[in-house]
Amino acid sequence: MRLVLLAIFAGQFAVPASAVAAPGFEQQSVCWISGDDTLRLNDVAQRADAWTCDGSISDWDAAQQLIRIDLRGRAADPATIRHAEFDRHEFEKLTATLIDENGESRSRTYGFGDTWLGASSLRSMIDLPEFDGQPIAVIFTLDGSQWPEALAEADLLAEPSVPPVAGLAHLLAALICGLLLAPIVFDFGYFRALREPFPLWHALFCAMAAVQTAAVSGLIPLVTAIDFASELDITYLSLDVMVAATLLFASNFIETDFVSRRGRAILLSLASLALASGLTTTFYPEWFGAWIDHFYFGAYLAILATYFAVLWRARQSGSRMASYLILGFAPFSAIVVIQFASVTLLPQIGTFDETWPQNFALLFEVVATALGVADRFISIKHERDQARDEARSLEKLSERDELTGLRNRRSLDTRFESLVAAGFHTIAVIDIDHFKPINDIFGHPYGDSVLVCVAAALRASDDKDLIAFRIGGEEFLLMLRGRDAAERAEARRRAITARTLATMDGLDRPITASMGLLDFTAVADDPDLDFWSLYTRADQLLYDAKCAGRNRTGRDALEWFVPQADGGASAVA
Ligand code: GH3
Ligand code: MG
Ligand code: MG
Repeated sequence: MRLVLLAIFAGQFAVPASAVAAPGFEQQSVCWISGDDTLRLNDVAQRADAWTCDGSISDWDAAQQLIRIDLRGRAADPATIRHAEFDRHEFEKLTATLIDENGESRSRTYGFGDTWLGASSLRSMIDLPEFDGQPIAVIFTLDGSQWPEALAEADLLAEPSVPPVAGLAHLLAALICGLLLAPIVFDFGYFRALREPFPLWHALFCAMAAVQTAAVSGLIPLVTAIDFASELDITYLSLDVMVAATLLFASNFIETDFVSRRGRAILLSLASLALASGLTTTFYPEWFGAWIDHFYFGAYLAILATYFAVLWRARQSGSRMASYLILGFAPFSAIVVIQFASVTLLPQIGTFDETWPQNFALLFEVVATALGVADRFISIKHERDQARDEARSLEKLSERDELTGLRNRRSLDTRFESLVAAGFHTIAVIDIDHFKPINDIFGHPYGDSVLVCVAAALRASDDKDLIAFRIGGEEFLLMLRGRDAAERAEARRRAITARTLATMDGLDRPITASMGLLDFTAVADDPDLDFWSLYTRADQLLYDAKCAGRNRTGRDALEWFVPQADGGASAVA
């Protein structure tokens, strides 16, 4: 796309300023006259000696240019010619005149806005004037043109290469634009989930690819009335921003392990270079003179080569994402290389209209990178889910007592308030009676098995309104809610004896437990309520039960709440 503008500037510097008059109009000749606005076609139309026919423009900057294309001897019958298609550029006024052997002529005048897009957005089309006879030449009178050579090289056609209204090519281009924009929706979703910048860079890249495709395919003039110069700026800058976005995207997208800090710094510098090159060549083309295309493409080749080197290295180190980037960017890069060759190295092979190859290359790149983004999203999400699950199970482990599997003291501390809020308003502290002798007689491991058995008796799995904790050596705590809380706690205490007798082989005595049970329903809403105060009171009740002969429950219901001054730290025995 940039190629045309570059050719304009290159042409300005390449054209010699002098010309020699030619004696006559030869068949198929292309002749020129340059002059000011006093130049009249009628005065010179038949005067062959007034024209220059050696292929050069006598005065590029002249206000008016006359270009005569001789139609005789051409393959196409001159009588069938209806349209002219030429490289798109701005002019003030264009008049096309068909003229026959006798000097009969028909003219038609066009403003820039009267032209319509040709085979691509780089080409303009006009309908030639209706002419009944056999024309021998078409003469273009061009006012205020930046690029008269475009008319000298016009294609004269019987049928237009595209219809004057939006056609199939525009439809296809619009469809491609839609496909290029689609991944943006997913990118925003990925960004919300991951909070990583790469989906945003990908979205910017997709948006710029869509603008670029719309611009080169001639969609912009169909939907807005912006001037041609702005349209060109949009075309160039969207390409440059797109390349910069690609590099920024890559710097964040490749897995951290596979690209060094230096590699990332290189990608960021390349992005700056792409932007700088784009901005300067677009807004300050005069800085570069005839070398503008060499500079522009040279910068891009350097960017591409370095980019691929960084990607290749990352891929060699095992990056999966680098492969998506290499694959995606390859067709587009190939087109840039071919363009570079056709513009600077081998101009004789003719210009290369990259419009459609580029559209498809961008579509390919967007699809390949969108797949990569989805892949990366899934793997990052997987890693994060795994880390979260591990953290959760560690947390769970840290809240469980290793021996019995009951919740531990830590768990009680963290959950107490929410349990009270959820209606657990009865607390029972349970201590096994004469447990020390069990250890002494049967050994510590046997004592451990008894504790496991006691825990099983307390853990009433069918009672969702009872939670058992092991808070010390052979000391347990129940929190209960609902009706008959005291009776259900009492049943658990008794279950200790029944269960140990039933399951512990060789036990020569019943295992009993004492309990301190406190119902604090009446004070549950007290804002000063705290665990240690309640625990201390329940522990006193337990102590009372021990003193009263063990294997029994001391119970109380709090009518009012008095916080313990010492925080109850000493209350746990
Ligand atoms: P009391 O009726 O007054 O409670 O008498 P007791 O013998 O149970 O006395 P105390 O509660 O002071 O004794 C607790 C004993 O529990 C002491 C300790 O050896 C034992 N113990 C504490 N933790 C464990 C444990 O994890 N495993 C085993 N096997 N024994 C433990
Ligand atoms: Mg004890
Ligand atoms: Mg005890």
